[in-house]
Amino acid sequence: MKQSQTLIPTLREIPTDADIKSHQLLLRAGFIRQTASGVYSFLPLGKRVLRKVEEIVREEMDNAGANEMLMPALQPSELWMETGRWNTFGPELMRLHDRHNREFALGATHEEVITSLIRDEVKSYKKLPLMLYQIQTKFRDEKRPRFGLLRGREFIMKDAYSFHDSYESLDTGYKKMYQAYTKIFKRCGLNFRAVIADSGAMGGKDTHEFMVLSEVGEDTIAYSDTSDYAANIEMAPVVSTYTKENEPLKELEKIATPNQKTMQEVADYLNHSLSKGLKALMFKVDEQLVLVVTRGDHEVNDIKLKNLYDASVVELATEEETRTVIGAGFGSLGPIGVNEEIEVVADHAVEFVANVSCGANDNGYHYVNVNPERDFKISKYADLRFIQEGDSSPDGNGTILFAKGIEVGHVFKLGDFYADKMGAKYLDDNGKAKTMVMGSYGIGVSRTLAAIVEQYHDENGITWPSDVAPFQVHLLAINSKKEEQRLLADDIYQTLKSAGIEVLYDDRKERAGVKFTDSDLIGIPYRITVGKRAEEGYVEFKTRVGGEQSDLHQSDILEKVNKLLGK
Ligand code: ATP
Ligand code: MG
Repeated sequence: MKQSQTLIPTLREIPTDADIKSHQLLLRAGFIRQTASGVYSFLPLGKRVLRKVEEIVREEMDNAGANEMLMPALQPSELWMETGRWNTFGPELMRLHDRHNREFALGATHEEVITSLIRDEVKSYKKLPLMLYQIQTKFRDEKRPRFGLLRGREFIMKDAYSFHDSYESLDTGYKKMYQAYTKIFKRCGLNFRAVIADSGAMGGKDTHEFMVLSEVGEDTIAYSDTSDYAANIEMAPVVSTYTKENEPLKELEKIATPNQKTMQEVADYLNHSLSKGLKALMFKVDEQLVLVVTRGDHEVNDIKLKNLYDASVVELATEEETRTVIGAGFGSLGPIGVNEEIEVVADHAVEFVANVSCGANDNGYHYVNVNPERDFKISKYADLRFIQEGDSSPDGNGTILFAKGIEVGHVFKLGDFYADKMGAKYLDDNGKAKTMVMGSYGIGVSRTLAAIVEQYHDENGITWPSDVAPFQVHLLAINSKKEEQRLLADDIYQTLKSAGIEVLYDDRKERAGVKFTDSDLIGIPYRITVGKRAEEGYVEFKTRVGGEQSDLHQSDILEKVNKLLGK
């Protein structure tokens, strides 16, 4: 492609609205432009990389026995009502009306559409298992669209769905997808981990997220320093054991703690460590009020709370609601003397504390020398806190460390959640109607593109891995006005193109400095510069990473490039 004939609007300055490297570089190197918040155009270079990632995804999906199809983005509300998600999906679902005032959604995901399709088209066990996928634009009205392509409101996803006649068959399909995902992200050159994730209320147990390791990741991964255990911290169980504090129980005392609100302020004021205080938070679990007690140095994990109650919605009660039932605000909440309609549950660690402090349910007061069971009742103990660095690894091997990750893929055993609600049944070999078992498997294709840039850049620009680079060779004519340079560059361009090599040819009438800067920014793996030695047939060959540079004769270029590309 000739640079003079395409659209690569590079920028010298860092755009002020872009906080992270991938967003800045994709804008600066002219790969994308924002059209609205969280909505992007892919310019020619961006589209090329997108297509490369999509091709890798397609090849591995096809190898895993999945078949490509395409479903509509426009989905009637009736389908979402069948599963109840018209109500539960919330404001993330983009909704609209047609001219007859019928309600539609723009597809945020396609479980409803595909399940209704398969319910109508597949009737016999002989057709199962069946694995289908599509690569398509998804719409989600994210609360905080940010970080460019990482969290958009319109983005490209590969979503696959599998249908089975048994859980064993689902296990097999799931494994195949897991392996395909591993291959895909390896081929994209990514440093990633597959981590155990939360399956929420979706029935099936297994679910893994594929996380690209990156400081800008919004998820935290808990991994073992010695084994290959890795989980999303939302989900990692705490298996640490505690020992009962061996001190004589002291007398309960109520103490004024004026203006001390946070756990840290109270701990400082009472001159004890964070772990010597109890934290109490009021949650609404579906409609029930639950007071959750943890040690002051621990954080409540609301997903564990949700799973404990098998609830659909868990949220913190507002300060107003808390005040109404407890008579005190957040700053002095505690488990002593709360009325019986409120269930008090505690994290396991609470069972082992002695003589701790907690809020007195009286603004500006705390109790000290509090002892669970003696001073308040707990209806149940459970694992209710987030795992922390230094905790034992849940698999029994090693100690937990944290890393940040960008979720690029998600494999999920749905079980019969959708099939049951939507009546997707097949006849087994005895002619008996049974509910299908399903899996779903997503890859954020556009997010993956950005994740690659997060891992592949230096101070001058992007450093694309060869398999996903927009072009393999960047050909620069230093001074296109000079006849011999233009002729040689034209010639090399034709030779490489005819050999099937993807070349971006900078034939613009720009200064050499501009061409070099743009070239580094765009980040194509190999650069051929036609300059002073054009008359002798010599060019300069340079790799984007490492910056190795050598003079090369025109006649050796094709061989060199083929060798580097493994052709
Ligand atoms: P997240 O926790 O990041 O919101 P999710 O759990 O909502 O992700 P899924 O519903 O599992 O995501 O979607 C499948 C894949 O689609 C994700 O693994 C991710 O790579 C991608 N994805 C999800 N939301 C977005 C978004 N807003 N922008 C870009 N990619 C996204
Ligand atoms: Mg989401």
